[in-house]
Amino acid sequence: MNLFPISAQINSRGHLEIGGCDATALARAFGTPLYIYDDAHLRARARALHNAFATRWRDALVLYATKAYYSPYLARIFKDAGLGIDVTSEGELEIARRVGLAPEKIYLHGNNKTPAEIRAALALGVAHIIVDNLDEIDLLAQIADELDARPQVLLRLAPAIDPHTHRYLATGVAESKFGLPMLTGAAITAARRVMQHSRLLLVGLHVHIGSQIFDLDPYRDALRAVCDFAAELRDAVGFDLRELDLGGGWGVAYTADQTTLDIETVAETITREITNYQLPITKLLFEPGRALVAQSAIALYTVGSIKEISGVRTYVAVDGGMGDNIRPALYGARYSARVANRMNDAPAQRVAIAGRFCEQGDVLIENVDLPRVQVGDLIAIPDAGAYQIPMASNYNLIPRPAVIAVRAGDARIIRRRETIEDMLRCESDF
Ligand SMILES: *Cc1c(COP(=O)(O)O)cnc(C)c1O
Repeated sequence: MNLFPISAQINSRGHLEIGGCDATALARAFGTPLYIYDDAHLRARARALHNAFATRWRDALVLYATKAYYSPYLARIFKDAGLGIDVTSEGELEIARRVGLAPEKIYLHGNNKTPAEIRAALALGVAHIIVDNLDEIDLLAQIADELDARPQVLLRLAPAIDPHTHRYLATGVAESKFGLPMLTGAAITAARRVMQHSRLLLVGLHVHIGSQIFDLDPYRDALRAVCDFAAELRDAVGFDLRELDLGGGWGVAYTADQTTLDIETVAETITREITNYQLPITKLLFEPGRALVAQSAIALYTVGSIKEISGVRTYVAVDGGMGDNIRPALYGARYSARVANRMNDAPAQRVAIAGRFCEQGDVLIENVDLPRVQVGDLIAIPDAGAYQIPMASNYNLIPRPAVIAVRAGDARIIRRRETIEDMLRCESDF
């Protein structure tokens, strides 16, 4: 059960139980596909991440990467745990505003920030802007002038580091669309340009090398690259590195052969190694997304058909798929699964879990060993908390699933199931 949320267990009926609720009862009450967040798991994880850094560095701030999944429910939990956030859109900013998150804890990201987004952030009092490219510097200065704001700028660097992850998840390599390449001199040009604007205050450097990284070495390399660059900037333009943002990307186990990167080890290693560099860093920032939420939720589906192609494979088709989880189709993400109403039955067959969407690539899991499955059984997929609901679509005009939170036998809807009316409300005739 170690890929499941902390409150998950097998009850006396041999069913999956989460937050004190029987999964079969949740499926009956709320329907499937259903996303179930374990409230206790989320709170414990948020606290653990906050403490891992707060106990080791005086001014450390964990910024939750909201793109992993943000909602008012999650926003309140993370705010209570003392976390800040990364945002990349007015939508994410609006949730933060509604829960009253302090603007000092909000950092604006994006590789193509719109004037409206920059304006909305500055108007809300968000001062920290992470600059991704040369073009946005003048735009930022101009809007800051308009609003009489004084943005505090961090430069996002592309340090040419290979994090040994999927190509689509590597964001710090030299050819990345993100950040200012260090090799071409763009990063130093950006620093000069920011310092020329009296409205802008250059306070720090940022690096985010990618996602699903299980090894600490790429982080050490990134730290060295950023610190060396900071020393170069100090000599060239008299810049003092005060805020250092080392991004996120900490790997999470989705299958039994993987091991989640231990946060205490990350915190210990990074805070120890930083002292090797003689830099005036005061504030240390981290931006985990997946590591905070992935394991806190499961996706629950109902089996609708089983197709045995003799000598080839058996497809177990469920009532969700790429519409609520695009990750397997987008970059070959792997998952595991259990039959939620037969948790004590031994594996008896190797199957593929197929989605219901009209794409051959809509297969959630290529190979998984399950007990004998029947139509009507419930498939539970753990590690469903990150990059699933926020990437969901209405492909095939299928409404997006409901999301619930469970705690101590209580279950609440935190995002109601979409209706056909919801999907059609933006349409009009000519
Ligand atoms: C996506 C992203 C993160 C979070 O990545 P995870 O793999 O979810 O931890 C952090 N920082 C930036 C800039 C990102 O784009």
